[in-house]
Amino acid sequence: MSRTDLSTLSPSFDAIVIGGGITGAGILREAVRTGAKVLLVEQNDFASGTSSASSKLVHGGLRYLKNGQWRLTLESVRERQRLLREAPGLVETQPFLMPLYRGAKPGKLTMRLGLWIYDLMAGTSASGWLSQVSLLKIEPNLRKPDLLGAVHYEDARTDDARLVQRLIRDAVDAGAVALNYVRADVQMRGTQVVGVRLTDTVTNQTRDIESKVLINAGGAWAGALPGAPEGSPVLRPLRGSHFVFSREKLPVQKAVSWLHPKDQRPIFAYPWEGAVVYGTTDLDHDGSQDHPRMTPEEADYLLDGLAYQFPDLQLKASDAISTYSGVRPIVASGKDDPSAESRESAMWSSPGLVNITGGKLTTFRVTAREVLNEAAKQVPLLKPERDQPVFVSAGNARDQRLFGRLGAAAATALLDGAPAAELERVADSPYSWAELRWSARYEQVQKLDDLLMRRTRIGLVVQQGGRDELPRIKEICMAELGWDQVRWDAEAARYLELWQRNHAPVPA
Ligand SMILES: Cc1cc2nc3c(=O)[nH]c(=O)nc-3n(C[C@H](O)[C@H](O)[C@H](O)COP(=O)(O)OP(=O)(O)OC[C@H]3O[C@@H](n4cnc5c(N)ncnc54)[C@H](O)[C@@H]3O)c2cc1C
Repeated sequence: MSRTDLSTLSPSFDAIVIGGGITGAGILREAVRTGAKVLLVEQNDFASGTSSASSKLVHGGLRYLKNGQWRLTLESVRERQRLLREAPGLVETQPFLMPLYRGAKPGKLTMRLGLWIYDLMAGTSASGWLSQVSLLKIEPNLRKPDLLGAVHYEDARTDDARLVQRLIRDAVDAGAVALNYVRADVQMRGTQVVGVRLTDTVTNQTRDIESKVLINAGGAWAGALPGAPEGSPVLRPLRGSHFVFSREKLPVQKAVSWLHPKDQRPIFAYPWEGAVVYGTTDLDHDGSQDHPRMTPEEADYLLDGLAYQFPDLQLKASDAISTYSGVRPIVASGKDDPSAESRESAMWSSPGLVNITGGKLTTFRVTAREVLNEAAKQVPLLKPERDQPVFVSAGNARDQRLFGRLGAAAATALLDGAPAAELERVADSPYSWAELRWSARYEQVQKLDDLLMRRTRIGLVVQQGGRDELPRIKEICMAELGWDQVRWDAEAARYLELWQRNHAPVPA
């Protein structure tokens, strides 16, 4: 898909959204329903910030329940149930097991009570108790001495980058404009924000665009924008890192959750996109927000946690396929312990500007509607409509997974048009060659990592970031993106360097 020339953009919009993560994408999706003329700009690729580096759980957050954050838990559980209904194939039920041990906390009674409340909030009865014998039949690699059994319960998982992509695609289909690799700088007249100066970071082209209201959903980067009023919240970026292992190395059948022996923080491993995601950490992040990566101390912490719960597997960093790290946009409250900081979103406004930060992937719809209600105080047209489904479920789709990830129309066209040979999987990943071609052709791919790290997650779940598959990927990129040999060589070199720097389990 060719780049939108900034000179062809309309000179003014009702609302411009800064940031193409889950928060911005959710706002765009809800805003376009109001009939408003809306533009979203993302300075890098869509979901290239925190929204492709989360734990990928659409969850109520049992941990929040423990901290007494009732409203957040209830809201999250309700949103989870809604997304499970509306987006099968993109948001899927994830069964969890939490092994419990004699003499260790949490006790069985506490957990069962917590899960009873959790179920009650969701209107389900998914939780229960599994004996030691039944548990070990499912997860034979668990630490065994003093093992009593496990509580089981349900949450949900998604592909975070794809969730963002789907929201943006649906919003664009409904009339919104969304541009990646376009940075916004705020334009002010006195104390009033009046629009943005856009810079296409690929071509360096610039253009000034007016907006009745600007919505800053810049995530952990949100505080960097000028125009924030006095007394705006201070952000506390917290880094979280994950390992991705193959299912052969870390063969979990369900999500297994336990407390790290060092600090009693919950950690978990679960099957995701044909591999296993394991994390996470929660540490103050003082490095560059653009390229966070797992530190050796985080790797040791996570490997210690794994050795404690799965002692026989004896996993090392070099056994992993990849790692990834993200930065949580958390509003600082002065607490010492990073994990004690609230995960709720914060919103603040000034004339012509609404800022939003914090919050969770799971609750993007609620956040979007709160932001639009706030923006409507300045531009009444933006008042969100009555509650509507975010996604239209594809029902008994031919390929539920593809329908969820792409939307019904795109998935149907892909399946009808792809030659049989392209429906084969790329290495041992769940992605077909046809999906790669589809993304390259239709999904605003500008760089190789857009295709391999976010439209598909080959960079996370295939060994060496998919290095061995590059010759065939090259053919697709040349045909669909018009890249010549020189461009391909530059893209491949840049991608491999980026993978090595940010995702290699053992840094070179
Ligand atoms: C380790 C970790 C695990 C997590 N796990 C979960 C989970 O399992 N479930 C859950 O619900 N939540 C989870 N979260 C929280 C969730 O991922 C984040 O709250 C969410 O992704 C934040 O989205 P965002 O859109 O606000 O920010 P981002 O995704 O960071 O998006 C902001 C975007 O704004 C862009 N931007 C900034 N300034 C400009 C500008 N001037 N012009 C143009 N673009 C700009 C940035 O490039 C960036 O892409 C997790 C977070 C972390 C870090």
